[in-house]
Amino acid sequence: MYDALTGRYTFACPHREEAHVTLSAFRRLERLPGAAHPAVYGVRFDCGCGDEHPGLVSHQELDWAPLGAGAGSFLNLMTSRHDDAGAELTSTAAARLQGGEWPWSFYCYPEGRARPVFPSSFVAVAPGSRSFGLAVRCPACAALSVNLVSQAHLDLPFWNDAAVGVVDHVFADDALDAVESFRAELHSARFDERRLHLN
Ligand SMILES: [Zn+2]
Ligand SMILES: [Zn+2]
Repeated sequence: MYDALTGRYTFACPHREEAHVTLSAFRRLERLPGAAHPAVYGVRFDCGCGDEHPGLVSHQELDWAPLGAGAGSFLNLMTSRHDDAGAELTSTAAARLQGGEWPWSFYCYPEGRARPVFPSSFVAVAPGSRSFGLAVRCPACAALSVNLVSQAHLDLPFWNDAAVGVVDHVFADDALDAVESFRAELHSARFDERRLHLN
């Protein structure tokens, strides 16, 4: 479940019953075979309890819930009436999409260009000292690219870093299977700075 007002997903935690985490707490994302409609993603996330847990999230929740779909109603203190936050947020998001803004983006290394993307194309996230390593499967060319991004770039829809670090090679499909090997890759990699404009 996603709460659009706090920007957090709710998963089960074996120690605290519930965990509320943002996208940047995800470590691995993988579309599960079968269940094509709706697609379901298996994730692993860093929990506030200190452990990493598995969770399940639907395609709709992953890509569209952060834009406000299904936020539910809230008490509007100006009018003392219950208003539909989902409708409000979604019309704002729709206007921004129509204006050419994109909620998430990344720099595709083999194509040499910025691309719009949704969280369902994220493959792995690794926290660093000042930024996050983000591995993305390009929706256009299917290659795996790794960017260095801010936490806001991950967690806030329509927040796109002006420039990101880009690892200067293409990753093999199995390079990121373990979180540790992804971190090791990030540690040894060279980054080029690339601007993230989508035109
Ligand atoms: Zn936990
Ligand atoms: Zn690409």
